[in-house]
Amino acid sequence: MTEDIRVTVWNEFRHEKTNEHIKKIYPDGMHAVIASHLEKQPGLTVRTATLDEPEHGLTEKTLAETDVLTWWGHGAHKEVADEIVDRVQKRVLDGMGLIVLHSAHMSKPFVRLMGTTCFLKWREIGEKQRLWVVDHAHPIAEGVGDYFEVPHSEMYGEPFGIPQPDELVFISWFAGGDVFRSGCCWHRGLGKVFYFQPGHETYPIYHQPEVLRVIANASRWAASPRGAALIQGNQKPLEQIESADSSP
Ligand code: ZN
Repeated sequence: MTEDIRVTVWNEFRHEKTNEHIKKIYPDGMHAVIASHLEKQPGLTVRTATLDEPEHGLTEKTLAETDVLTWWGHGAHKEVADEIVDRVQKRVLDGMGLIVLHSAHMSKPFVRLMGTTCFLKWREIGEKQRLWVVDHAHPIAEGVGDYFEVPHSEMYGEPFGIPQPDELVFISWFAGGDVFRSGCCWHRGLGKVFYFQPGHETYPIYHQPEVLRVIANASRWAASPRGAALIQGNQKPLEQIESADSSP
């Protein structure tokens, strides 16, 4: 029997406390809705963490016991301590998966791991979004079909200031005419990173089955085998060889 994938669902968890409309959609926070879906999936063990917990809920121990971290942030990116960003980055390079949701495109861990601006076009008028699968063989698109739609969404448009994705899974069309690379994969060290665009806080997007399915698929994709380790630094040769400067 293989071990469960340990997912930590992280949320800034501020809009849900301060905005009555958002509180109605997510009374216990977006993280609670995402976590409760993931918990029902076979092979996933789930916990949550939020910004206002000590160390943002991401202690060394928690991260050491996390195979995949999902991240939602928006208004408080700057409040995430650099020490915790260092910790998340190191864990990703050591093999932890990172799933970056919606406005977390500007989160410190994502920008750090990408090394680019991660900026984009945006517009908030509740227009329709259609996400096209462009890699039908990709495990993250499993069960999604050819496309799915989010009836009311915040538009994110190209140009998206990211490095070229290693794998592109979704491209979005928006009613207003823009397009956006909405499901992007990268490898960073031993870790895998997936950016997924849906999830604006004023719409019930994380109640939508297709969106939750993609996050569950991505959790399985992003998990690396435990115990993978790099051998680096100065090494003795594996074969008996004469060094180039030795003379007979
Ligand atoms: Zn948004």
